[in-house]
Amino acid sequence: MKITRELIKKLPKTDLHLHLDGSIRIETLIELAKDGGVELPSYTVQGLKETVFKENYESLEDYLKGFGYTCAVMRKKENIERISYELALDNQNEGVRYIEVRYAPQLHAGGEMTLSDTIEAVNNGLDRAKREFNSREGVVSGGEPPFEYGIIACAMRYFNKYFSDYFSDIISVHSYSPEDKIFGLASLELVGAAVQAWKETGIPVVGVDLAGPEKGNPPVHHREAYMLAHRNFLNKTVHAGEAYGPESIFQAITELGADRIGHGTSLFNPEAISDPAIADRERYVHDLVQFIADRRITIEVCLTSNMQTDPRLLRLEDHPFRHMMENRLSCTICTDNRTVSHTTVTDEVYKAVQAFDLSLKEVKNLMVYGFKRNFFPKTYREKRTYVRQCMEYFEKIVKDSI
Ligand SMILES: [Zn+2]
Repeated sequence: MKITRELIKKLPKTDLHLHLDGSIRIETLIELAKDGGVELPSYTVQGLKETVFKENYESLEDYLKGFGYTCAVMRKKENIERISYELALDNQNEGVRYIEVRYAPQLHAGGEMTLSDTIEAVNNGLDRAKREFNSREGVVSGGEPPFEYGIIACAMRYFNKYFSDYFSDIISVHSYSPEDKIFGLASLELVGAAVQAWKETGIPVVGVDLAGPEKGNPPVHHREAYMLAHRNFLNKTVHAGEAYGPESIFQAITELGADRIGHGTSLFNPEAISDPAIADRERYVHDLVQFIADRRITIEVCLTSNMQTDPRLLRLEDHPFRHMMENRLSCTICTDNRTVSHTTVTDEVYKAVQAFDLSLKEVKNLMVYGFKRNFFPKTYREKRTYVRQCMEYFEKIVKDSI
């Protein structure tokens, strides 16, 4: 059977690697910037697509430029709530049933706004969209699966005083401490806020993440924070192997106990290993791949985003996703940033189907991983029921399309 874009759009899907600040609607950004007096290089959708949110980027710096603008309008609770609500709607409208929205609360906090205020705002938006969707007749009758979500709090590998008022405060009250200690301390604070939100208010902050430049900012600085998450049974994902070699993935797993890895594009690249102490690079990569496969550590694959930021990747067919599939790794297809990367889950799955000639069975497996390896905020029994319902719905959609 031919796998069309229309079919993929109807199938129940997930997005487990989805940045809130990279996925704001451009129209909303313009409106909120005008209201808040935030300067943009253009105030039209087309203009911003030409100057900021481009089809192709020259470098990672160029790619990251857009976040300066989006974060500038995300310093008010009502704005964050609206952006979160719209993000959930955009996902629902293309058949995505489960999302894990990640963002760095510390980038939006400062002044009157606390970390828990930002968490509450994100949750308010997502919860409203969820309640609206789940009151539709098709969902209430049990004919189709409900929409569910989780929130992932991102810690930052690196920051400076210009990142936000919150970070500026942290730096200024620790002016005699080494930088790496301050990074670790900020992460510990963040995990503390995440644990409190989950345990005391029931807001589904289901996991933590580590984002930011990998080179020179090793995971070990954040070990204490990740162990706090671990002891509180928060799930753990780490951006790793995106802009650094396989050691970064190794450390995310061995130092931070990562349950999932964001990107992992350098996993099959022994030449990217820079640690001279690793003598047998092929063996190092082999053992790492086998460990990841065996423990079902899931790779959050973001094809378009990787193509835009990794200069080594010239054709999508060369993306290591092929090796991940060949080695039977648990992979899930994600967008990373819907606006900055100009994409949707439907687009990403369709691109994967075309570039890697995926069968319907392989597409189904990818969806199963997305539903099974997420950090579902309910009981294990409820999760099993939900996964089953989503996969039965998958079969129904396929049957109806024949
Ligand atoms: Zn990411």
